[in-house]
Amino acid sequence: MQRLSERTDTFTDSVIRRMTRISNQYGAINLSQGFPDFDPPRAILDRLAEVSREDFHQYSITWGAQNFREALAEKQSRYMGRPVDPNGEITVTCGSTEAMMAAMMTVANPGDKVVIFSPFYENYGADVILSGAEPIYVPLAPPDFRFDPEALEDAFRQRPKALILCNPSNPCGRVFTREELELIAGLAEKYDAYVITDEVYEHIVYAPHQHTYFATLPDMWKRTISCSSLSKTYSITGWRLGYTIAPPEITERIKKVHDFLTVGAAAPLQEAVIPGLRFGREYYDGLLAEYTHKRELFLGGLDRLHIVHNTPEGAYYVLLDISEFGYDSDLRFCEDLAEKVGVGAVPGSSFFREPVNHLIRFHFAKRDETLLDALNRLEGLRVKIPPKRRPCSAMPTPFGSSS
Ligand code: GLN
Repeated sequence: MQRLSERTDTFTDSVIRRMTRISNQYGAINLSQGFPDFDPPRAILDRLAEVSREDFHQYSITWGAQNFREALAEKQSRYMGRPVDPNGEITVTCGSTEAMMAAMMTVANPGDKVVIFSPFYENYGADVILSGAEPIYVPLAPPDFRFDPEALEDAFRQRPKALILCNPSNPCGRVFTREELELIAGLAEKYDAYVITDEVYEHIVYAPHQHTYFATLPDMWKRTISCSSLSKTYSITGWRLGYTIAPPEITERIKKVHDFLTVGAAAPLQEAVIPGLRFGREYYDGLLAEYTHKRELFLGGLDRLHIVHNTPEGAYYVLLDISEFGYDSDLRFCEDLAEKVGVGAVPGSSFFREPVNHLIRFHFAKRDETLLDALNRLEGLRVKIPPKRRPCSAMPTPFGSSS
């Protein structure tokens, strides 16, 4: 038999999604793969029920149904503070997962280099490999997850075709400041690189931090592909609705890639979510208030258990330090955590390029009862998994246990 493709030789399955299966296997509370256990907004569900009896069962236009794109363009224009053309600048995709893949295939030739901050959402590594590009990783070092401007410029000196920017960042919760983004913009301009953003947590940014859309920085519109999704904003991760926003010349190409990758996102779901896209500011304020409360509830609980963690500025993830347990493998720790304590987490090593094995990620996009139940179970953590060292008193500094 001939060998299967080289580009899939080095793949593992997604560790995030594997941890969901492991959590299910042990009946653990699944705080690994980030998705809510509460309902999407009523208005969207009501419209979904109606849509089943209307005429939305066949393909929509491949780059997105006209009324969906118009509603999305109107909403994004409001938030981005610049007009977005529903016809020339939007491509609707099957989740931001496809948006990122289509963006990568639009920009990169085999052998091109792409800059990725580490830690990174695990799909980016796979996107780069599938598009034939080569990643250059630039560390965001704990405890504050800032990048070294010199290290970033070193990466740009290798003449990358693009940089992938996850902001707010999964898994580390950074919300990049305007100054940091301007620094990235300056390098993108100087070295003529595209910027592909992942801004799926654009509405989950905790005060006093503020989200700046990279595409809206001076001169950046022409070289930015903004990718995002409706999954997190409307609590509909299973609907797989994402999109790219990019200038017409780039969108023209993205549409073609998307057309042959998936043809289109689900037509009835595009129609059903339109009332959500038309929500006013109070919806997004309410969503943020809810996540601000959950962040306080869950992180406060971790503090009471003396578990060292970072404090996310955005998104709904928290990284915990597990060095006290003395595991060589954070994956093994997460398996034990699911089996013995009954809580699912993602091993930090699946996000870092660097050899990190002392961090795990929880998400807190869950009902309060679920979070309290998880905290309750975590009270038994040190009994069920006895520590081998003293706990750390602060988030360890760059890539290694401080204890
Ligand atoms: N973005 C979510 C996470 O990081 C869900 C990922 C996925 O499985 N699509 O957990």
